[in-house]
Amino acid sequence: MSDKTGLHLETLAISHGYDPQSGQGAAKPPIYATSTFVYRSAQQAKDIHEQFFDGPESEGAKRLAGEPEAYIYGRLGHPNLTMVEARLAALDGAEESAAFNSGMAAISTTLFALVRPGDSIVHSRPFYGGADNLIHNVLTGFGVNAFSFLDGLSEASIQAALDEAAAAGPVSVIWLETPANPTAALVDIALVVRLAKALGERQGRTPIVAVDNTFLGPLLQSPLAEGADLCMTSLTKYCAGHSDLLAGGVSGSAELIKTIKALRTLKGAHLDAQTAWLLLRSFETLPVRTARACDNALKIATYLRAHPKVRGVTYVGFRDEPEAVALLARQCRGTGSTFSVRLKGGEAECFRFLDRLRVLRLAVSLGGTETLICHPATTTHYAVPAADRAASGIDDGTMRLSVGLEHPDDLIADLEQALEAV
Ligand SMILES: *Cc1c(COP(=O)(O)O)cnc(C)c1O
Repeated sequence: MSDKTGLHLETLAISHGYDPQSGQGAAKPPIYATSTFVYRSAQQAKDIHEQFFDGPESEGAKRLAGEPEAYIYGRLGHPNLTMVEARLAALDGAEESAAFNSGMAAISTTLFALVRPGDSIVHSRPFYGGADNLIHNVLTGFGVNAFSFLDGLSEASIQAALDEAAAAGPVSVIWLETPANPTAALVDIALVVRLAKALGERQGRTPIVAVDNTFLGPLLQSPLAEGADLCMTSLTKYCAGHSDLLAGGVSGSAELIKTIKALRTLKGAHLDAQTAWLLLRSFETLPVRTARACDNALKIATYLRAHPKVRGVTYVGFRDEPEAVALLARQCRGTGSTFSVRLKGGEAECFRFLDRLRVLRLAVSLGGTETLICHPATTTHYAVPAADRAASGIDDGTMRLSVGLEHPDDLIADLEQALEAV
Protein backbone atom coordinates (compact mmCIF):
# COMPACT_ATOMS: atom_id res chain seq x y z
CA MET A 1 0.00 0.00 0.00
CA SER A 2 1.22 3.51 -0.76
CA ASP A 3 -0.24 7.01 -0.62
CA LYS A 4 -0.58 9.62 -3.36
CA THR A 5 3.07 10.66 -2.95
CA GLY A 6 4.05 7.07 -3.75
CA LEU A 7 5.43 6.39 -0.27
CA HIS A 8 4.50 3.13 1.41
CA LEU A 9 2.59 2.98 4.70
CA GLU A 10 5.72 1.58 6.37
CA THR A 11 7.58 4.77 5.44
CA LEU A 12 4.75 7.17 6.29
CA ALA A 13 4.47 5.52 9.73
CA ILE A 14 8.00 6.64 10.65
CA SER A 15 8.11 10.40 10.24
CA HIS A 16 5.17 11.78 8.25
CA GLY A 17 3.65 14.86 9.88
CA TYR A 18 6.76 16.17 11.62
CA ASP A 19 9.16 18.64 10.04
CA PRO A 20 12.39 18.88 12.09
CA GLN A 21 12.75 22.51 10.95
CA SER A 22 9.63 23.31 13.01
CA GLY A 23 11.39 22.00 16.12
CA GLN A 24 14.83 23.65 15.96
CA GLY A 25 16.14 20.65 14.03
CA ALA A 26 15.28 18.10 16.72
CA ALA A 27 15.22 14.69 15.04
CA LYS A 28 12.22 13.74 17.13
CA PRO A 29 9.23 15.98 17.82
CA PRO A 30 9.29 18.14 20.94
CA ILE A 31 6.38 17.76 23.35
CA TYR A 32 4.53 21.08 23.32
CA ALA A 33 3.45 21.08 26.96
CA THR A 34 1.37 24.25 26.95
CA SER A 35 -2.31 25.02 27.33
CA THR A 36 -2.19 28.31 25.46
CA PHE A 37 -0.24 30.11 22.72
CA VAL A 38 1.18 33.64 22.73
CA TYR A 39 0.50 36.10 19.89
CA ARG A 40 3.01 38.46 18.35
CA SER A 41 0.43 41.24 18.11
CA ALA A 42 -3.25 41.95 18.56
CA GLN A 43 -3.66 41.89 14.78
CA GLN A 44 -2.08 38.41 14.59
CA ALA A 45 -4.45 37.21 17.33
CA LYS A 46 -7.40 38.49 15.29
CA ASP A 47 -6.08 36.90 12.08
CA ILE A 48 -5.63 33.53 13.77
CA HIS A 49 -9.17 33.61 15.12
CA GLU A 50 -10.52 34.62 11.74
CA GLN A 51 -8.69 31.72 10.16
CA PHE A 52 -9.96 29.27 12.80
CA PHE A 53 -13.59 30.32 12.66
CA ASP A 54 -14.03 31.59 9.07
CA GLY A 55 -11.66 29.19 7.29
CA PRO A 56 -8.83 29.43 4.79
CA GLU A 57 -10.66 31.93 2.54
CA SER A 58 -10.89 34.56 5.29
CA GLU A 59 -8.87 37.81 5.21
CA GLY A 60 -7.07 36.74 8.38
CA ALA A 61 -6.00 33.44 6.81
CA LYS A 62 -4.68 35.29 3.76
CA ARG A 63 -2.60 37.57 5.97
CA LEU A 64 -1.15 34.48 7.73
CA ALA A 65 -0.23 32.73 4.47
CA GLY A 66 3.30 31.33 4.53
CA GLU A 67 3.60 31.43 8.33
CA PRO A 68 3.90 28.30 10.51
CA GLU A 69 0.57 26.77 11.59
CA ALA A 70 -1.00 28.99 14.27
CA TYR A 71 -2.65 27.77 17.46
CA ILE A 72 -5.04 29.37 19.95
CA TYR A 73 -5.66 27.11 22.95
CA GLY A 74 -4.92 23.44 23.58
CA ARG A 75 -8.50 22.20 23.43
CA LEU A 76 -8.90 23.63 19.91
CA GLY A 77 -5.66 22.15 18.63
CA HIS A 78 -1.93 21.96 19.38
CA PRO A 79 1.24 20.97 17.48
CA ASN A 80 1.47 17.37 18.74
CA LEU A 81 -2.20 16.85 17.85
CA THR A 82 -1.54 18.14 14.32
CA MET A 83 1.38 15.68 13.95
CA VAL A 84 -0.65 12.67 15.09
CA GLU A 85 -3.55 13.63 12.84
CA ALA A 86 -1.29 14.08 9.81
CA ARG A 87 0.26 10.68 10.38
CA LEU A 88 -3.06 8.92 10.97
CA ALA A 89 -4.55 10.56 7.85
CA ALA A 90 -1.59 9.33 5.79
CA LEU A 91 -1.94 5.79 7.13
CA ASP A 92 -5.71 5.75 6.57
CA GLY A 93 -5.37 7.30 3.09
CA ALA A 94 -7.59 10.18 4.23
CA GLU A 95 -7.78 13.88 3.48
CA GLU A 96 -7.86 14.59 7.24
CA SER A 97 -8.09 12.96 10.66
CA ALA A 98 -9.19 13.95 14.15
CA ALA A 99 -7.56 12.46 17.26
CA PHE A 100 -9.37 12.00 20.58
CA ASN A 101 -8.58 11.02 24.15
CA SER A 102 -10.13 7.55 23.62
CA GLY A 103 -11.81 5.43 20.99
CA MET A 104 -15.18 6.02 22.67
CA ALA A 105 -14.59 9.79 22.57
CA ALA A 106 -14.06 9.41 18.81
CA ILE A 107 -17.21 7.29 18.39
CA SER A 108 -19.48 9.43 20.57
CA THR A 109 -18.28 12.73 19.07
CA THR A 110 -18.73 11.37 15.54
CA LEU A 111 -22.26 10.10 16.17
CA PHE A 112 -23.43 13.19 18.05
CA ALA A 113 -21.99 15.36 15.26
CA LEU A 114 -23.80 13.48 12.49
CA VAL A 115 -27.09 12.18 13.91
CA ARG A 116 -30.21 14.20 14.81
CA PRO A 117 -33.48 13.32 16.58
CA GLY A 118 -35.74 11.37 14.22
CA ASP A 119 -32.81 9.94 12.23
CA SER A 120 -32.11 6.23 12.00
CA ILE A 121 -28.77 4.48 12.51
CA VAL A 122 -28.02 1.06 11.04
CA HIS A 123 -25.14 -0.99 12.43
CA SER A 124 -23.53 -4.37 11.87
CA ARG A 125 -23.68 -6.97 14.64
CA PRO A 126 -21.92 -7.94 16.85
CA PHE A 127 -20.02 -4.73 17.54
CA TYR A 128 -18.11 -3.00 20.32
CA GLY A 129 -20.05 -2.95 23.61
CA GLY A 130 -19.43 0.76 24.26
CA ALA A 131 -20.79 1.71 20.82
CA ASP A 132 -23.75 -0.64 21.38
CA ASN A 133 -24.51 1.01 24.74
CA LEU A 134 -24.15 4.51 23.28
CA ILE A 135 -26.50 3.85 20.36
CA HIS A 136 -29.11 1.72 22.13
CA ASN A 137 -29.17 3.34 25.58
CA VAL A 138 -28.16 6.97 24.96
CA LEU A 139 -28.92 8.00 21.37
CA THR A 140 -32.33 6.27 21.44
CA GLY A 141 -33.10 8.59 24.39
CA PHE A 142 -32.57 11.53 21.99
CA GLY A 143 -35.13 10.13 19.55
CA VAL A 144 -32.71 8.22 17.31
CA ASN A 145 -33.90 4.88 15.86
CA ALA A 146 -31.42 1.98 15.79
CA PHE A 147 -31.45 -1.07 13.49
CA SER A 148 -28.89 -3.76 12.72
CA PHE A 149 -27.94 -6.68 10.51
CA LEU A 150 -26.05 -9.86 11.35
CA ASP A 151 -24.81 -11.07 7.98
CA GLY A 152 -22.54 -8.42 6.49
CA LEU A 153 -21.88 -10.53 3.40
CA SER A 154 -25.55 -10.80 2.44
CA GLU A 155 -27.04 -8.02 0.35
CA ALA A 156 -30.55 -9.13 1.33
CA SER A 157 -29.77 -8.97 5.05
CA ILE A 158 -28.21 -5.48 4.84
CA GLN A 159 -30.98 -4.19 2.54
CA ALA A 160 -33.68 -5.46 4.93
CA ALA A 161 -32.11 -3.51 7.83
CA LEU A 162 -31.79 -0.37 5.67
CA ASP A 163 -35.44 -0.62 4.56
CA GLU A 164 -36.68 -1.12 8.11
CA ALA A 165 -34.56 1.84 9.29
CA ALA A 166 -35.62 4.14 6.45
CA ALA A 167 -39.27 3.46 7.28
CA ALA A 168 -38.64 4.82 10.82
CA GLY A 169 -36.68 7.93 9.75
CA PRO A 170 -33.90 9.08 7.39
CA VAL A 171 -30.80 6.90 7.76
CA SER A 172 -27.97 9.31 8.60
CA VAL A 173 -25.21 6.88 9.65
CA ILE A 174 -24.37 3.26 8.86
CA TRP A 175 -21.86 2.03 11.46
CA LEU A 176 -19.82 -1.05 10.59
CA GLU A 177 -17.32 -3.10 12.51
CA THR A 178 -15.32 -5.59 10.48
CA PRO A 179 -13.93 -7.99 11.43
CA ALA A 180 -16.02 -8.13 14.61
CA ASN A 181 -15.27 -9.95 17.80
CA PRO A 182 -15.64 -12.71 18.98
CA THR A 183 -17.46 -14.19 15.98
CA ALA A 184 -14.96 -13.08 13.28
CA ALA A 185 -18.01 -11.66 11.47
CA LEU A 186 -17.14 -9.77 8.28
CA VAL A 187 -18.89 -6.91 6.51
CA ASP A 188 -18.43 -6.20 2.82
CA ILE A 189 -17.74 -2.45 3.05
CA ALA A 190 -18.02 -1.77 -0.71
CA LEU A 191 -21.40 -3.57 -0.79
CA VAL A 192 -22.72 -1.41 2.08
CA VAL A 193 -21.42 1.74 0.34
CA ARG A 194 -23.30 0.76 -2.83
CA LEU A 195 -26.54 0.13 -0.89
CA ALA A 196 -26.09 3.42 1.01
CA LYS A 197 -25.81 5.34 -2.27
CA ALA A 198 -28.96 3.69 -3.62
CA LEU A 199 -30.80 4.55 -0.39
CA GLY A 200 -29.47 8.10 -0.70
CA GLU A 201 -31.21 8.43 -4.07
CA ARG A 202 -34.50 7.44 -2.46
CA GLN A 203 -34.31 9.44 0.77
CA GLY A 204 -32.59 12.49 -0.72
CA ARG A 205 -29.54 12.27 1.54
CA THR A 206 -26.79 9.66 1.40
CA PRO A 207 -26.06 7.97 4.73
CA ILE A 208 -22.51 8.36 6.06
CA VAL A 209 -20.80 4.95 6.11
CA ALA A 210 -18.39 4.71 9.06
CA VAL A 211 -16.17 1.71 9.84
CA ASP A 212 -14.60 0.77 13.18
CA ASN A 213 -11.20 -0.45 11.95
CA THR A 214 -9.75 -1.25 15.40
CA PHE A 215 -9.23 -5.00 15.01
CA LEU A 216 -7.08 -4.79 11.86
CA GLY A 217 -5.82 -1.21 11.97
CA PRO A 218 -4.50 0.90 9.09
CA LEU A 219 -1.85 -1.57 7.95
CA LEU A 220 -4.27 -4.40 7.25
CA GLN A 221 -7.46 -2.68 6.10
CA SER A 222 -8.26 0.68 4.47
CA PRO A 223 -12.03 1.27 4.74
CA LEU A 224 -11.82 4.63 2.94
CA ALA A 225 -10.33 2.92 -0.12
CA GLU A 226 -13.42 0.65 -0.09
CA GLY A 227 -15.61 3.76 -0.34
CA ALA A 228 -16.47 4.34 3.35
CA ASP A 229 -16.82 7.99 4.41
CA LEU A 230 -15.20 7.61 7.82
CA CYS A 231 -12.67 5.23 9.36
CA MET A 232 -12.65 5.11 13.16
CA THR A 233 -9.88 3.42 15.15
CA SER A 234 -9.42 2.87 18.85
CA LEU A 235 -5.75 3.90 18.80
CA THR A 236 -5.53 2.45 22.32
CA LYS A 237 -5.19 -1.00 20.77
CA TYR A 238 -2.79 -1.93 17.94
CA CYS A 239 -1.79 1.62 16.97
CA ALA A 240 -0.55 2.60 20.45
CA GLY A 241 0.38 -1.05 20.87
CA HIS A 242 1.90 -1.08 24.37
CA SER A 243 -1.20 -1.06 26.61
CA ASP A 244 0.01 2.21 28.16
CA LEU A 245 -2.34 4.88 26.79
CA LEU A 246 -5.87 5.56 25.52
CA ALA A 247 -6.61 7.37 22.27
CA GLY A 248 -8.97 7.31 19.32
CA GLY A 249 -9.04 8.59 15.75
CA VAL A 250 -11.46 9.30 12.94
CA SER A 251 -10.36 9.83 9.32
CA GLY A 252 -12.30 11.05 6.31
CA SER A 253 -12.94 14.07 4.08
CA ALA A 254 -11.86 17.53 5.25
CA GLU A 255 -15.53 18.55 5.36
CA LEU A 256 -16.67 15.69 7.64
CA ILE A 257 -13.61 15.96 9.90
CA LYS A 258 -14.23 19.71 10.29
CA THR A 259 -17.78 19.01 11.54
CA ILE A 260 -16.51 16.35 13.95
CA LYS A 261 -13.67 18.55 15.24
CA ALA A 262 -16.09 21.40 15.93
CA LEU A 263 -17.96 19.17 18.38
CA ARG A 264 -14.70 17.75 19.77
CA THR A 265 -13.72 21.27 20.81
CA LEU A 266 -17.01 21.69 22.68
CA LYS A 267 -16.76 18.27 24.33
CA GLY A 268 -13.10 18.78 25.24
CA ALA A 269 -12.34 15.32 23.81
CA HIS A 270 -9.02 16.17 22.10
CA LEU A 271 -5.85 14.13 22.66
CA ASP A 272 -3.25 15.77 24.96
CA ALA A 273 0.33 16.58 23.89
CA GLN A 274 2.09 13.93 26.00
CA THR A 275 -0.14 11.10 24.76
CA ALA A 276 -0.02 12.34 21.17
CA TRP A 277 3.78 12.23 21.36
CA LEU A 278 3.75 8.65 22.67
CA LEU A 279 1.39 7.68 19.88
CA LEU A 280 3.76 9.15 17.28
CA ARG A 281 6.45 6.79 18.60
CA SER A 282 4.04 3.90 18.48
CA PHE A 283 3.11 4.49 14.85
CA GLU A 284 6.76 4.04 13.87
CA THR A 285 6.73 0.38 14.86
CA LEU A 286 3.10 -0.39 13.93
CA PRO A 287 4.04 -2.12 10.65
CA VAL A 288 6.55 -4.51 12.24
CA ARG A 289 4.34 -5.11 15.29
CA THR A 290 1.37 -5.86 13.07
CA ALA A 291 3.31 -8.34 10.96
CA ARG A 292 4.79 -10.17 13.95
CA ALA A 293 1.48 -10.29 15.85
CA CYS A 294 -0.27 -11.75 12.79
CA ASP A 295 2.41 -14.46 12.38
CA ASN A 296 2.19 -15.36 16.07
CA ALA A 297 -1.60 -15.40 16.01
CA LEU A 298 -1.70 -17.89 13.13
CA LYS A 299 0.69 -20.19 15.02
CA ILE A 300 -1.26 -19.98 18.29
CA ALA A 301 -4.65 -20.39 16.60
CA THR A 302 -3.37 -23.41 14.65
CA TYR A 303 -1.98 -24.98 17.84
CA LEU A 304 -5.20 -24.40 19.79
CA ARG A 305 -7.48 -25.67 17.02
CA ALA A 306 -5.73 -29.06 17.05
CA HIS A 307 -5.80 -29.45 20.87
CA PRO A 308 -8.14 -32.20 22.14
CA LYS A 309 -9.48 -29.99 24.97
CA VAL A 310 -10.48 -27.23 22.55
CA ARG A 311 -13.94 -27.19 20.98
CA GLY A 312 -13.19 -24.52 18.41
CA VAL A 313 -11.24 -21.42 17.44
CA THR A 314 -13.03 -18.43 15.88
CA TYR A 315 -10.25 -16.75 13.95
CA VAL A 316 -10.70 -14.62 10.83
CA GLY A 317 -7.88 -16.52 9.13
CA PHE A 318 -9.81 -19.80 9.46
CA ARG A 319 -12.91 -18.57 7.66
CA ASP A 320 -13.17 -20.81 4.62
CA GLU A 321 -16.57 -20.14 3.01
CA PRO A 322 -15.94 -18.90 -0.55
CA GLU A 323 -17.67 -15.51 0.04
CA ALA A 324 -15.55 -14.84 3.16
CA VAL A 325 -12.32 -15.91 1.45
CA ALA A 326 -13.10 -13.68 -1.54
CA LEU A 327 -13.92 -10.71 0.69
CA LEU A 328 -10.78 -11.15 2.80
CA ALA A 329 -8.68 -11.22 -0.38
CA ARG A 330 -10.31 -8.04 -1.66
CA GLN A 331 -10.72 -5.98 1.54
CA CYS A 332 -7.94 -7.06 3.97
CA ARG A 333 -4.18 -7.41 3.87
CA GLY A 334 -4.03 -9.73 6.89
CA THR A 335 -6.28 -11.37 9.44
CA GLY A 336 -5.17 -9.70 12.67
CA SER A 337 -4.20 -11.23 15.99
CA THR A 338 -7.36 -11.13 18.12
CA PHE A 339 -9.54 -14.24 18.15
CA SER A 340 -11.50 -16.46 20.46
CA VAL A 341 -11.08 -20.03 21.60
CA ARG A 342 -13.77 -22.24 23.11
CA LEU A 343 -12.77 -24.93 25.59
CA LYS A 344 -14.61 -28.18 26.10
CA GLY A 345 -16.30 -27.23 29.37
CA GLY A 346 -17.53 -24.00 30.95
CA GLU A 347 -16.56 -21.40 33.52
CA ALA A 348 -14.81 -23.83 35.91
CA GLU A 349 -12.59 -25.28 33.18
CA CYS A 350 -11.75 -21.80 31.84
CA PHE A 351 -10.90 -20.49 35.32
CA ARG A 352 -8.59 -23.47 36.06
CA PHE A 353 -6.87 -22.85 32.74
CA LEU A 354 -6.59 -19.06 33.16
CA ASP A 355 -5.22 -19.33 36.71
CA ARG A 356 -2.40 -21.59 35.51
CA LEU A 357 -1.12 -19.25 32.79
CA ARG A 358 2.29 -17.71 33.49
CA VAL A 359 3.29 -15.96 30.24
CA LEU A 360 -0.13 -14.91 28.95
CA ARG A 361 -1.67 -12.14 31.05
CA LEU A 362 -5.28 -12.17 32.19
CA ALA A 363 -6.71 -8.79 31.16
CA VAL A 364 -9.32 -7.18 28.91
CA SER A 365 -8.23 -5.02 25.95
CA LEU A 366 -6.08 -6.03 23.02
CA GLY A 367 -3.38 -4.97 20.60
CA GLY A 368 -0.48 -4.63 23.05
CA THR A 369 3.01 -6.12 22.77
CA GLU A 370 2.03 -8.68 25.43
CA THR A 371 -0.43 -11.50 24.86
CA LEU A 372 -3.67 -10.96 26.75
CA ILE A 373 -6.50 -13.36 27.43
CA CYS A 374 -9.89 -12.87 29.04
CA HIS A 375 -13.12 -14.73 29.75
CA PRO A 376 -15.77 -12.47 28.15
CA ALA A 377 -18.82 -13.99 29.91
CA THR A 378 -17.47 -12.89 33.31
CA THR A 379 -15.59 -9.73 32.26
CA THR A 380 -16.17 -7.71 29.05
CA HIS A 381 -19.71 -9.12 28.59
CA TYR A 382 -20.57 -9.54 32.29
CA ALA A 383 -23.47 -7.06 32.07
CA VAL A 384 -24.90 -8.62 28.89
CA PRO A 385 -27.81 -11.07 29.51
CA ALA A 386 -26.76 -14.71 28.85
CA ALA A 387 -29.18 -15.08 25.91
CA ASP A 388 -27.73 -11.98 24.20
CA ARG A 389 -24.22 -13.23 24.93
CA ALA A 390 -25.03 -16.54 23.28
CA ALA A 391 -26.44 -14.69 20.27
CA SER A 392 -23.08 -12.90 19.89
CA GLY A 393 -21.19 -16.18 20.02
CA ILE A 394 -20.05 -16.07 23.64
CA ASP A 395 -20.70 -18.96 26.02
CA ASP A 396 -19.14 -19.87 29.38
CA GLY A 397 -16.34 -21.77 27.63
CA THR A 398 -15.29 -18.87 25.38
CA MET A 399 -12.06 -16.93 25.93
CA ARG A 400 -10.62 -14.09 23.86
CA LEU A 401 -6.93 -13.82 23.05
CA SER A 402 -4.98 -10.86 21.76
CA VAL A 403 -1.69 -12.35 20.62
CA GLY A 404 1.39 -10.19 21.18
CA LEU A 405 5.03 -10.25 20.19
CA GLU A 406 6.53 -12.87 22.54
CA HIS A 407 8.32 -15.91 21.10
CA PRO A 408 5.48 -18.13 19.86
CA ASP A 409 7.08 -21.26 21.37
CA ASP A 410 6.86 -19.70 24.84
CA LEU A 411 3.21 -18.85 24.32
CA ILE A 412 2.43 -22.36 23.10
CA ALA A 413 4.35 -23.97 26.00
CA ASP A 414 2.39 -21.80 28.45
CA LEU A 415 -0.94 -22.72 26.84
CA GLU A 416 0.08 -26.40 26.84
CA GLN A 417 0.87 -26.54 30.56
CA ALA A 418 -2.29 -24.60 31.45
CA LEU A 419 -4.49 -26.85 29.31
CA GLU A 420 -3.18 -29.83 31.29
CA ALA A 421 -5.00 -28.35 34.30
CA VAL A 422 -8.38 -28.39 32.55
C1 LIG B 1 -11.53 -0.75 22.57
C2 LIG B 1 -12.43 -0.57 21.40
C3 LIG B 1 -13.17 0.61 21.22
C4 LIG B 1 -13.15 1.75 22.22
O1 LIG B 1 -11.89 2.32 22.34
P1 LIG B 1 -11.35 3.01 23.72
O2 LIG B 1 -10.03 3.54 23.29
O3 LIG B 1 -11.30 1.93 24.74
O4 LIG B 1 -12.33 4.04 24.09
C5 LIG B 1 -13.97 0.71 20.09
N1 LIG B 1 -14.06 -0.30 19.20
C6 LIG B 1 -13.38 -1.45 19.34
C7 LIG B 1 -13.53 -2.52 18.33
C8 LIG B 1 -12.55 -1.64 20.45
O5 LIG B 1 -11.89 -2.79 20.61
